[in-house]
Amino acid sequence: MQIGCHVSISGSIDKAVDNAVERECSAFQIFTRNPRGWHAKDLSKEDIANFKSKLRESKIDRLATCAHMPYLPNLATPKEDGFEKSVKTLVDEVERCSILGIPYLVTHLGSHLGTGEEDGIKRLVKGLTKAGQTENDVMILLENTACQKNSVGSDFKQLGKIFNQLKPAKKFGVCFDTCHAFVAGYDLRTEKKVKEALNEFDKYVGIKNLKIIHLNDAKGDIGCNLDRHYHLGLGGIGEKGISAIIKFANKKKIPIILETPIDNERDDFGNIKKAKELA
Ligand code: MN
Ligand code: MN
Ligand code: ZN
Repeated sequence: MQIGCHVSISGSIDKAVDNAVERECSAFQIFTRNPRGWHAKDLSKEDIANFKSKLRESKIDRLATCAHMPYLPNLATPKEDGFEKSVKTLVDEVERCSILGIPYLVTHLGSHLGTGEEDGIKRLVKGLTKAGQTENDVMILLENTACQKNSVGSDFKQLGKIFNQLKPAKKFGVCFDTCHAFVAGYDLRTEKKVKEALNEFDKYVGIKNLKIIHLNDAKGDIGCNLDRHYHLGLGGIGEKGISAIIKFANKKKIPIILETPIDNERDDFGNIKKAKELA
């Protein structure tokens, strides 16, 4: 089983590996930079070398690591300057992943801001395709969304429609977020329901394209569209569903990344421990 969580790069990027090792992760996710701003400081040669050597010395497989795009870019936006900036950020992040030896970059699909799904998807496909032209081995992973207002890509059918337009195909994959799928209306509360949802996902997107699973329980109930992650087993999905998803991931050898909260109830250590129990 390859499992871990989103880890902080606070201090310097190589600290992410320390944080992952400390939490006994065999997979992890990072932001390569401050996720809340547009500006990214260049990675120094020293930081890159330290990150790579620490990762090599750890027992973590490089292929079980991923980066997540920062929050501000919106690849479906109708605003021209915002779109340009978003695509540039995506291209930059792909390059940063390549330099760090990180094989996957997870991105959200954005919001059409009321201009309609069709137009939003057109822009999104254009932006993703541009980033797909860069020459490196980094795969861009499309993450299913929670179905908030004006968002694109919560419905598996629509996600598949977007995904199948992307070229070259080998540069693109998908990331399945369990909280997002559940609050978007896909029942994941029992083994049977998980199977049904994954069959639907396979039909439109293809399980073979699924490279990372974001394993989060949901604070809200099924179909509530509320993007609030919760501790494994304690949210709307519950232990049975979470357990079924972990077993599926292990069978298919898909790395699991937790994006669960840290509070009085539990921290990363507790949620990773819980996941190992439920496996
Ligand atoms: Mn995400
Ligand atoms: Mn996620
Ligand atoms: Zn989320």
